[in-house]
Amino acid sequence: MGFKDECGVFGITQHSEAANLTYLGLYALQHRGQEAAGICATDGIVLRLHKDQGYVADIFDEDIIKSLAGHQAIGHTRYSTTGGDSSESSQPFMRDGRFGFLSLCHNGNLTNTELLRQQLIARGVVFQSSSDSEVLLALIQLSEAISLEEAIIEALKQAEGAYSLLVMNQEYLFAIRDPHGFRPLVMGKLGPSFIFSSESCALDLIGATYDREVMPGELIQIHHGSLESRTPLPRKAAKPCVFEHVYFSRPDSYVFGQSVMKSRREMGRLLAERHPAPVDLVIPVPDSGVSAALGYSQASGIPMDFGLIRNHYIGRTFIEPQQSIRSFGVRIKLNPVRHLIEGKRVVLIDDSIVRGTTSKKIVEMVRQAGASEVHFRVSSPPTTHSCFYGIDTPSRENLIASHMNIETMNTFIGSDTLAFLTLQDLATAVQDKTQGSGYCYACFNGDYAVPPLA
Ligand code: AMP
Repeated sequence: MGFKDECGVFGITQHSEAANLTYLGLYALQHRGQEAAGICATDGIVLRLHKDQGYVADIFDEDIIKSLAGHQAIGHTRYSTTGGDSSESSQPFMRDGRFGFLSLCHNGNLTNTELLRQQLIARGVVFQSSSDSEVLLALIQLSEAISLEEAIIEALKQAEGAYSLLVMNQEYLFAIRDPHGFRPLVMGKLGPSFIFSSESCALDLIGATYDREVMPGELIQIHHGSLESRTPLPRKAAKPCVFEHVYFSRPDSYVFGQSVMKSRREMGRLLAERHPAPVDLVIPVPDSGVSAALGYSQASGIPMDFGLIRNHYIGRTFIEPQQSIRSFGVRIKLNPVRHLIEGKRVVLIDDSIVRGTTSKKIVEMVRQAGASEVHFRVSSPPTTHSCFYGIDTPSRENLIASHMNIETMNTFIGSDTLAFLTLQDLATAVQDKTQGSGYCYACFNGDYAVPPLA
């Protein structure tokens, strides 16, 4: 399993400034991936593509946006990968074939990529990358179905795992979510234009209205400004990714029909009820712990303050000094405010502990800044299992909670006390009516809706 695709997708139809608005949309989705970005636009005759590595703001300028002429566009922001040359893996992908030039953007991870790739290689297909998204595009182009729509459906019938997809040619735009609906995808409107985006925050930026989610298993086709929807794939239990609400999405987004800010506050509130801490101050680990810390502070009545300050301007090109300085890695990102912390008993709130290395360094830093007690509270359950559907979690042996219990983790990270939210409480916070099966919780309980293949 080479790829870890936490990504953002955005698409728009029927707009004279399609590429420009896609650029803005990608800006709003930058948190979903900072390694590479790209836009493919069409004027109804040809498809034009520009993609590169880096931040959205660095990749595009006015001339490039102008060169992406046309009324319809799709775009992608890509998270870092392990393995494979990332410049070749950046999206949108474009491929010529039976249906002319097609372009595709994908958020999620297929679980049977290797099997499909080997079958396609045996048929003589040459790939430029090791990306599962390129495999999907090749499957569509090689289909013998009578129409592009049927070719997409035929390809998706062979694909397993997670996909929120945008596919277009010079005439059509398709938006599709896998039958479990692992990854988010919403639809908005701006005048006659249809907009698709991983998160609703991108709709806000361009002044579009939020319409609804693309439903799990739904295929939406936009052609000459009219929409057709169908659910062509076998229905499956909806399993939207709970980690979108825990960590990944922006708090100002509506994801899976719910406000992310609201879920996170509720996680913090429940955490305070179950695991009070005898402290003077609530400190969020920014930015991921801020919304939950607010909930924790409101429910406990303990004041919250910004005892850790984050540097937002760390580029990907940051160079570590040769001689490593203790805690340098975390200090470049976070610095404690001694004035607030000195002599106080504090509780740190973060959304998750993954490897445990960050939390360990933060606790040490806060003690050095003069805290008399440092308690740690986490607004999700222990992360015990890897994700195979698109969230970048390390392999299982690197997840601290896969081999340590809470007591041992507490000793390891050096906190006075450590506590996590239960899965039940997390389910309540995200309004899972089934109390534990309405979302994908695999990273917390190992219950994989689609079995991961090797
Ligand atoms: P660590 O336990 O050292 O691996 O780091 C935990 C921190 O990483 C927490 O502050 C989380 O907000 C953050 N985090 C959790 N999941 C991810 C992810 N998939 N990608 C990047 N950061 C993450």
